Amino acid sequence: MKMFDVTAPIFEGMTVYKNKPEKQPKILSATNGYVTESRIDMDVHSGTHVDAPLHMVKDGETFESISLEKLVGNCRVLDLTHVEDKIGRAELEGYDIASGEFVLFQTKNSWEDAFSFEFVYLAQDGAAYLAEKGVRGVGTDALGIERSQEGHPTHKTLFGAGVIVIEGLRLREVPAGKYFMVAAPLKLVGTDAAPARVLLFEGWQG
Ligand SMILES: [Zn+2]
Repeated sequence: MKMFDVTAPIFEGMTVYKNKPEKQPKILSATNGYVTESRIDMDVHSGTHVDAPLHMVKDGETFESISLEKLVGNCRVLDLTHVEDKIGRAELEGYDIASGEFVLFQTKNSWEDAFSFEFVYLAQDGAAYLAEKGVRGVGTDALGIERSQEGHPTHKTLFGAGVIVIEGLRLREVPAGKYFMVAAPLKLVGTDAAPARVLLFEGWQG
């Protein structure tokens, strides 16, 4: 069985949203004799992570409301590498998306290692389409599921429909198709997101 690790590495100098210096992780190591211990200070939206409703909804639900059962299971990588700007209803209609699916968007973002201010994103009508279809979740290879949309309607539409959002996937090496996904976020309590290790297994459907 082939496994793809679709997680972004975390280190000082990694790619962060809009290249903001305050979003860079800080890793502080201290050595005392032969003992080394490190601390990390990082944004919960660094690299590959799962968002919680609190991120974009005032008094929204916090991270522990997201059940692990929804993050572990079948998923499908959709080849959207031809999309130049945004993914809307029209871009998604041809994929025969079914209720309960977890869809991952492979776009040209996966081929860009530096932050692009023009990253491909999910438009509000695309989010509404996914909500209508009743997907379990959506994953993107951008550090944000949307950009340039006043009021963050994509996040709000997805959270309002209970659709899980994974951001910051690295899908360059992954052929489009079906996989078994294990998305395992840190078990943070009370936060608006959590970094996650995300693995896709080929040839195995649950
Ligand atoms: Zn996020």
